[in-house]
Order: sequence, then structure tokens, then C-alpha cells
Amino acid sequence: MMIPTIPTPDELLDKGFRRGKKAADLTRTTKMPKHLKGKRIEEVRVITACQVIKDRLKMILDRVPPIEQLPEFYQDYIDITVGVDDMKQSLGALNWAYGILTQLEKDYAGKIRRAPSEKASGYQKQAYGRIASVVNKIKKDLDFLDFAKANLRNMPTIDFDAITIVIAGFPNVGKSTLLKQITTAEPEIANYPFTTKGIQIGHFEKRWKNYQIIDTPGLLDRPVSKMNDIELNAMVALEHLADAILFIFDMSETCGFPLESQLNLLKEIEKIFKGVPVIYLFNKIDLSDYEKDEEKFDYVTKYVDKLDNVLFVSASTGEGIDEIFNILDKIEKIPHEKEEEQF
Ligand code: GDP
Repeated sequence: MMIPTIPTPDELLDKGFRRGKKAADLTRTTKMPKHLKGKRIEEVRVITACQVIKDRLKMILDRVPPIEQLPEFYQDYIDITVGVDDMKQSLGALNWAYGILTQLEKDYAGKIRRAPSEKASGYQKQAYGRIASVVNKIKKDLDFLDFAKANLRNMPTIDFDAITIVIAGFPNVGKSTLLKQITTAEPEIANYPFTTKGIQIGHFEKRWKNYQIIDTPGLLDRPVSKMNDIELNAMVALEHLADAILFIFDMSETCGFPLESQLNLLKEIEKIFKGVPVIYLFNKIDLSDYEKDEEKFDYVTKYVDKLDNVLFVSASTGEGIDEIFNILDKIEKIPHEKEEEQF
């Protein structure tokens, strides 16, 4: 999401007052009876300052989309990263300031018009004082929006029409190797809250369907029991996207994690992504002889005995990879958003 540059209260006021002065100076050169011109100058000064500040606030309000209209994933993302309530409150405060400035503009323009000419400049000063006080009142909200701008830059671009596959599995099992194998272009790397390496999103098209493959290094690659609430939320946000989980086992255990732990991770992830189909991918077949070591793998392969969604591949040599597309062809979009609209 693109939040425009957020000014400080001083920047807003400087600009408003500078432009007010400019407009007043311009008025000075117009031809008008002197006693009227004096009032006109002050009126123009107040109106211009208000307008300039209001325009800037409106530009910010117009450019930030209403959060409740964003797809669920982005609402979660914003909530985890900066907090949806704080965001709404800050935007609300800008809106409030806009309203007050509109009122001030109207009130003081009227006062100056009706006042005897010697009082005009006093009203103008009063108006500027009130304007400054309103703008300073939204300082913390402007600060917050500036913080949100910095934190929400490089949000992942999600294709909500594509079938979305979320990759999971311990580090070094071959997730990114696989992502590169099956996607056409270089995966996009975007920020993702609480993952140091960000989120990787790859795209490809197969049999006239668009797919989007998501890898989140540092999130779906460690025991859920060790996660804090925020990390759990970051994970749940993915639940709103996933049409299938692609869980990768490294049967060679060269990733450094014993199979038993890998199976436990799978079980945890299945619990969180309830109702999302899982594709079980046994990677690095070039490094292990499954048939010879059958007993060793027994308890894992028995856990996933539905042959439908099981694959034995080597992400690095490409062996068996084509089979993935046959399985993916059966995956359908889960209508996540609609589900929620019913309630
Ligand atoms: P990630 O941390 O899960 O993304 O794992 P990577 O894709 O970075 O892979 C970790 C290491 O395993 C890298 O050195 C890969 O080259 C290697 N690797 C991945 N898949 C295979 C495979 O099928 N066979 C072999 N021999 N090595 C693999």
C-alpha cells in the first residue's frame, strides 16, 4: 500500500501560512477602496492557509484506501505490522482536522468580512492561532502515519485470483530450490512481518490457470509451539490466502532436522491450516534410497498414505517435478473471502 509522504505539523503550517502570505501580497496589488482592501487581504490570507492545509490532508485521506475494504490478507498484514485500530484512529484524526479547518475558514472569513476594518488583522491572527492549534493536535497521528508508511512499504503484491500454494517445511529442505524450479520468473521478494528474510512469491501459469507460490522463510519452517502471538497472527494471515499447503520433507535429513521433527511440524501446520488440502512432497530423492531404507521412513509415509497428494522428487535435479503440476491441477480456489462475508 502506498501511503503518500506525511508532513509534520510544522511543515503543514509553514506551507499554509507561506501560501497565505503570498495570496495576501497578490491581493495588495488589486484595485479596491482601501478600507475594503485591508479586510480582503486578511480574508484571503485565512482562506488560503486553510485551503492549502486541507488540500494536503485530503490528498493523504484520498490516497490511503479504506482499510475495511481491503482484502482480508492486507487487513491482517496491516494489523500485524502497525495495528488497524491505530491506523483508523489516525486517519479519523486527519478527517477531524479537515472538518474543523473547514469550519474555522468559514467562521473567520465571515468575521473579517463583517468586522470594522481595523479589527480584521486581529481576527486573522486569531484564526492563525486556532489553525496552528488544530494542526498541532494531530501531531501524534501524523507521526503514526509516517511510521506506518515506513513499515508498510514493500508489502507483498498478492494476486487474489490466482490459486495460491503456501510452501512449508524446515529450513534447508529445499523450499526455495523448488520455488525456482516451478516458477517462470524470479520470485518477488517483499516484506513480511517478523520474518527477517521476507516473503517470496513466485508465479506461473499451467493449463490456463494462474498459480502463485508463497514461501515465508522464518515462519512456516519452525515449531509452532515456539512462536509468539504476533508470529502466530502472521501465520494465520496466510491462512486467508492458502488454497493448498505444499509441505516439503527432506528424507535425507541433510537439512539437519530429523524426520520425526519434520513430521511434527507437518502436524502442527495441518492443525493451523485446517481444511486446506496438503500436498506432501518428499524431496532430495537423489540423496536417499527410500526402498532400501523403507523401515526408517515407514512412520512418515504411513502418516501420509493417501497416494493422491504424495510426491517423490529432487528439486535440484528436477526429477519428478512435472508430477507436481498434475496434483496442482486438482487444487481449486477456496472462497476464503466469501466465507467471511456470510457472517
Ligand atoms: P530452503 O531453506 O528450504 O529454501 O532450502 P534450499 O532450497 O535453500 O535448499 C537447501 C540446500 O539443499 C541447498 O544447498 C540446495 O541445493 C539443496 N537441495 C535442495 N533440494 C535438493 C535435492 O533435491 N537434492 C539435493 N541433493 N540437494 C537439494
